[in-house]
Amino acid sequence: MREACGLFGIFGHPSAPSLIREGLFSLQHRGQEGAGIAVSDGRRIAAIRGLGLLEEVVAREPFGELSGDRGIGHVRYSTTGSNRLENVQPLLGEAPDGAWAVAHNGNLVNATALRQTLLGEGACFHTGTDSEVLLRLLTDARFVNRPDRLTGALSALEGAFSFLIMNERQIMAARDPFGFRPLSVGRLDGAWVFASETCALTQIGARLERDLEPGELLIVDESGARSLHFGSVPAQHAHCIFELVYFARPDSRLFGHWIYRTRLAHGRILAHECPADADCVAAVPDSGSFAAQGFAQESGLPLESAFIRNHYAGRSFLDPAVAGRERRADRKLAVLPNAMEGRRVVLVDDSLVRGTTLGRRVAALKREGAREVHIRIACPPITHPCYYGVDFPTREELAAGTRDVEGVRKMVDADSLGYISLAGLVEPLPVHAGFCRACFTGDYPVARGMADKMGLEAEGCAPPRSCS
Ligand code: SF4
Repeated sequence: MREACGLFGIFGHPSAPSLIREGLFSLQHRGQEGAGIAVSDGRRIAAIRGLGLLEEVVAREPFGELSGDRGIGHVRYSTTGSNRLENVQPLLGEAPDGAWAVAHNGNLVNATALRQTLLGEGACFHTGTDSEVLLRLLTDARFVNRPDRLTGALSALEGAFSFLIMNERQIMAARDPFGFRPLSVGRLDGAWVFASETCALTQIGARLERDLEPGELLIVDESGARSLHFGSVPAQHAHCIFELVYFARPDSRLFGHWIYRTRLAHGRILAHECPADADCVAAVPDSGSFAAQGFAQESGLPLESAFIRNHYAGRSFLDPAVAGRERRADRKLAVLPNAMEGRRVVLVDDSLVRGTTLGRRVAALKREGAREVHIRIACPPITHPCYYGVDFPTREELAAGTRDVEGVRKMVDADSLGYISLAGLVEPLPVHAGFCRACFTGDYPVARGMADKMGLEAEGCAPPRSCS
């Protein structure tokens, strides 16, 4: 699994703690290492945070003592900072004018430079995460009374970020100018709701209002909502296309696209681009399910089951001594005995990262008598790592990082291997230009280690680009 993080927030609802818990629960697929909820009654922020699944944290911590009508929550998968309690979000900090809490999805590419500068100026960091940089900027005594305190701090950040931020009175939502990570805005009984994916809005009965715009900061308090913009406007947006391929729940609508429809379309395009002479189609569940369905529709081959999934093979039951990647994969999926015996099967998955797991699937099918296994992948070869919040391994560890398609086919021991093309990947998406595809092309929208433009020294943070 290669998760991102999940954010959920609400302002103006008497059941805020329960609704945040419910919303976060439907975002658990985005991170299982830690979870936290921070709530305010307008005067004081109280929080619970812990390692593990949301419901484990809620059971251990004094969730029942949280009260207030506004708050934010986070489920974590670490792409920077190790899996330690201090890195679990929301991160909390004190400024001279009160308390702040920050929850982040994405990766900042200039966090190290910002951190070094702030450390040199006497700031004290308590975590190993890139997200703490924003908290330190917001709680910096020099900026407390600046009108551009928020937009200036956000303008200093480079890379991928969707943030939910709160102080005792306000909830703020922000998305980086490229729009790498999703963040949607909804309404429920007059309350404002924020979620990484729309499935969390649906879960609590909220209505989707719109996506937060790239480069937008929405501030909600008792007087209503204000929208500001920050940072430079990029030539093109860079929504993470891998969110559509893999991360997001099929019942979510991201960047204007229904996930399940997109994956069905990818399967159909894959069948058109890479047909296979076979007897049936099977999915690697659950990740390849919709693409396999699309492949079967387009090819006319029957869709059948080759694996059964163990839904209880969660991370919390793993014995560290045997918790290797392959062992985890084996616990999760078992091959259906004899189901593919003597048959030529097209096995469809959403993506192929290291290849080791898929190789074990092919071997298992062949052990159970499959005559031929033809692998079809509903995204192009992943050749480059991601610096924007997706936990891909190094180029050397990526199956396609140093191998051509034939090399990967040999590695997984399949009878044939086909990937959807880049053109096929964006075909169902009307706004082709607005997607990041760097892990397939190496063409990074934001260079890692770009010049630090935080401007904290003499002039402080940059003014907001526009207000409305
Ligand atoms: Fe998403 Fe790939 Fe871009 Fe990372 S490099 S943001 S995974 S599309």
